[in-house]
Amino acid sequence: MNKSLETQRMEKIVSLCKRRGFIFQSSEIYGGLNGCWDYGPLGVELKRNLKNYWWRVMVHERENIVGMDGSILMNRAVWKASGHEDTFTDPMVDCRSCKARLRADQVIDRKDIQQCPNCGGKDLTAPRAFNLMFKTFVGATEDESSVTYLRPETAQSIFVQFKNVLEVSRKKLPFGIAQIGKAFRNEINPRNFTFRSREFEQMELEYFCREEEGIKWLDYWLEERLKFYENIGIPRAKLHAHEIPDEERAFYSKGTYDIEYDFPFGRQELEGVAYRTDYDLQQHIKASGKPLDYFDEETKQRFVPHVVEPSAGVDRTVLALICEAYDEDTAPDEKGKLETRIVLRFHPRMAPIKCSVLPLLKNNEQLVAKAKEIADLLRPHMNVFYDETGAIGRRYRRQDEIGTPFAVTVDFETLGEKDPALRNTVTLRDRDSMKQERVPITELVSILTSRVR
Ligand code: ATP
Repeated sequence: MNKSLETQRMEKIVSLCKRRGFIFQSSEIYGGLNGCWDYGPLGVELKRNLKNYWWRVMVHERENIVGMDGSILMNRAVWKASGHEDTFTDPMVDCRSCKARLRADQVIDRKDIQQCPNCGGKDLTAPRAFNLMFKTFVGATEDESSVTYLRPETAQSIFVQFKNVLEVSRKKLPFGIAQIGKAFRNEINPRNFTFRSREFEQMELEYFCREEEGIKWLDYWLEERLKFYENIGIPRAKLHAHEIPDEERAFYSKGTYDIEYDFPFGRQELEGVAYRTDYDLQQHIKASGKPLDYFDEETKQRFVPHVVEPSAGVDRTVLALICEAYDEDTAPDEKGKLETRIVLRFHPRMAPIKCSVLPLLKNNEQLVAKAKEIADLLRPHMNVFYDETGAIGRRYRRQDEIGTPFAVTVDFETLGEKDPALRNTVTLRDRDSMKQERVPITELVSILTSRVR
């Protein structure tokens, strides 16, 4: 069977992720655990850059947004009140022939005959509701009274702490509470690499506002979030704001958009931006009996704020960044012969390593000492990688493959051996254009920090 180009592209991406240490299968030596992934040395840097940038533009650069970090385990009452215990389900069917357990929407429907996508069998069970929350027990007794769940979203801890955060931060509407953290869903069919996982991270903002302004803030946040993806290197042409039609939206939502990206395996959701009205706060008011409301000093009115929620997936965005960055072009090898080059064209602010520092030769003490000195000079400002092994062309290629946007090379001119005017200058190579410029060492920190921020 001929694999489509996009399938081949995805296979190359998955293999690069493992080979270069971005993403590994969880518990790999024991055969893995379906739907769980570990981030290796480069993956963790990429993920951290994404989360830090989100925090910077969503919290630090805004006067009216504060952060919090809630616990993963919460009182079961939270999940009863939020509706998750009763309704956070996917319809699921079993194939009696091959025993596959499938999400009902994955069953093939041919002229009203339902078929298993696995074996083609037609003997399927009726759909049953399957709750996606992982159940666990708190404390030493394993009975109904000690049941709770791993949180399936981070949002609920924001709602239940709304009053505390409002009081300590003394914000006026509109204001937001942001959180980044793990969430867990027992997905029936984890698939597409990390795209649909059972353990993942979310970056969520709950933006509280007045009812009259709900739609205005929904539109505002949709645009802000689209800009965010552009600012991390995902072009607008590959992003789509899909408006969820009335009949598919949660009953309490007055407007929801999915921000989608063209992955190699199809157009899929990166983030949901939803106007959730006052539903969540009202549910927790009813269930807890506590007044989760807001007092307007000017009008002397008390009311429950409405909320707009941009909710993004860290892992899905990391995957989108890798898919978008993956490229192959040609570059000359050591002998000048053109060869295929794999290059990850990460936006410099996302790149796991910002700059490599390379002495031209390994066996020249002065070159090595100077290069190490430059690496130490840059290290407090960014993640750098010192590399002295192999031909210089091969070292560039290794960095291209992991998306390092800049390389500093220390050569004999740096030592002033050829032209005294070039003493203490280095070459700065650009990953994408492969062009080199000559810059003084004293200017390196300011040039590089301005390009990677
Ligand atoms: P989907 O329809 O793909 O299952 P969802 O609409 O249920 O996603 P939300 O509940 O809106 O997702 O969660 C917000 C974000 O959290 C999603 O846009 C996605 O980025 C991320 N997310 C949700 N489920 C998963 C998962 N199983 N694996 C990785 N990320 C996820």
